[in-house]
Amino acid sequence: MKLYNSLTRSKDDFIPRFEGKVSMYTCGPTVYHYAHIGNLRSYIMEDVLEKYLRFSGYDVKRVMNITDVGHLSSDGDTGDDKMLKGAKREHKSVMEIADFYTKAFFDDCKKLNIKTPDVVEPATSCIDEFIRVISSLIEKGFAYEAGGNIYFDTSKLDKYYVFNDFTEEDLAVGVREGVEEDGNKRNKADFVLWFTKSKFDDQELKWDSPWGVGYPGWHIECSCISMKNLGEYLDLHCGGIDNAFPHHTNEIAQSEAYLGHEWCNYWFHVHHLNTDGGKMSKSKGEFLTVSLLEEKGYDPLVYRFFCLQSHYRKSLVFSYENLDNAAAAYKKLTAKIASVLDGSGDHDEEAYSSLKKRFTDALDNDLNTALAVTAVYDVLKADTSNAVKLRLIHEFDQVLSLGLIEAAKKSASEGNSEADDIPDEVKALAEQRKAARKDKNFALADEIRDKISALGYTVTETREGTKITKNS
Ligand code: AMP
Ligand code: ZN
Repeated sequence: MKLYNSLTRSKDDFIPRFEGKVSMYTCGPTVYHYAHIGNLRSYIMEDVLEKYLRFSGYDVKRVMNITDVGHLSSDGDTGDDKMLKGAKREHKSVMEIADFYTKAFFDDCKKLNIKTPDVVEPATSCIDEFIRVISSLIEKGFAYEAGGNIYFDTSKLDKYYVFNDFTEEDLAVGVREGVEEDGNKRNKADFVLWFTKSKFDDQELKWDSPWGVGYPGWHIECSCISMKNLGEYLDLHCGGIDNAFPHHTNEIAQSEAYLGHEWCNYWFHVHHLNTDGGKMSKSKGEFLTVSLLEEKGYDPLVYRFFCLQSHYRKSLVFSYENLDNAAAAYKKLTAKIASVLDGSGDHDEEAYSSLKKRFTDALDNDLNTALAVTAVYDVLKADTSNAVKLRLIHEFDQVLSLGLIEAAKKSASEGNSEADDIPDEVKALAEQRKAARKDKNFALADEIRDKISALGYTVTETREGTKITKNS
């Protein structure tokens, strides 16, 4: 499989460190509010990646953290504490907020057929681990104490900006939004590993540490939770593109400084879901959640379908018009699948393998989910038995997780089954043409093709058999 790797900035062959096994880490949600459908775009695409790796035969172990402490609103070390903000907004304790929104997140995931990772670990359950790694970073000379906080010293690294060629000035991007400069830092890019001097007097969650009572920074949690569960080497790290800097950059800095060797080989970043007004966020514009889509009458799997129809490395614009189009296409597709549900006919290995290859070729090429969805349409159009079609759709949907068979059954029970749109007359002509070609009577075959064309259809012979398409 070829996968775009943000670290090398190229499509690389995906080769895990240990044959047949993949260790995969995903940055989990910050549970101070519902996930918006932009966040969930990232989790949907990561879910397809995980499932495709399993489909390809890898034994995958996937770990995800839950950020329930330490994530400040600038993504750097400044701004408001997101969890505290949530607690104040709802007059609840931070832990109540974390429990409520963690559950809400997994409820949304379930509706979108996103598999729960093998290990899910909240940051607050790993405090000892953070303290151990931070102590070691201080011992190794990669971290220092200043003004009561512990900072990572980025000047100790040969290369800090691994994903981009930032300069010191460009760093303003990371500590943006007019937040005051932290005078304790030795270098602009340094970041907090442990806070004891917080500007939040009412910080609820605090723990004792060798440096005083305080709480961890956001970045250290992902390094520690990954290393704790997946060991010293990580094959694949996922997240939304906004996490590449500073979050993932800092994760790499501290993990490699701690381990003394390279840590993670492949970085998979999902680009953003935008609205007309720009990047979707929890604080501006309409707060689009899965529940809101449901209230408006959309099946959450239509949103998943919408996401899969575009490439994860392109930003995607959300609009209700686009979602309506996806809903109509999903309905049509599942009605077509309803017509093959009887699974009749014999297995045809050649057609089966050739159609399956279209699907795997698409996903092997940097997870091209749009083409993988097209492969489902190809199956339905192919001149092969329903047995083959049903088997392939069932297999593809282990990766796509669009609930295709269930939706097709529902569609059939509602009487929507759309055998296919090709009239019997055209089908009969296509059969005659096939026979003429077999007899090498090409003049007759061409004549029949013209007749088919006059009826508004195009017939082509493919490796999977005769294909008939309606002219647009
Ligand atoms: P958060 O809950 O803010 O920690 O974000 C959870 C995940 O969603 C992270 O991987 C983010 O990078 C990702 N993310 C945030 N905003 C968007 C967006 N508009 N589109 C896609 N992914 C996003
Ligand atoms: Zn993370």
